[in-house]
Amino acid sequence: MKCSEFLQELTNYLDGVLDDRTKSELEDHLAWCHNCYVVCDTTKKTIEIYRDSQLYELPDDLRNRLRSAIVAKCEARKKTGPREV
Ligand SMILES: [Zn+2]
Repeated sequence: MKCSEFLQELTNYLDGVLDDRTKSELEDHLAWCHNCYVVCDTTKKTIEIYRDSQLYELPDDLRNRLRSAIVAKCEARKKTGPREV
């Protein structure tokens, strides 16, 4: 398998939609081609970060509670007066 072929199949590989034969060809390629390994690794991480950021998006309820907690903290600080440094 050539690098260009690898890159063509990379997204399918990461999506897990490849047949076993093509998949093992890609894995063979990854085993010896450092360039494609790096590309694959970077792409995979980017996808994971994207997925994580969706996963950890705060629900509105929690976000509001966090915000009022921060506001309450600011109010408390106002009462004691700002500290000049
Ligand atoms: Zn390659």
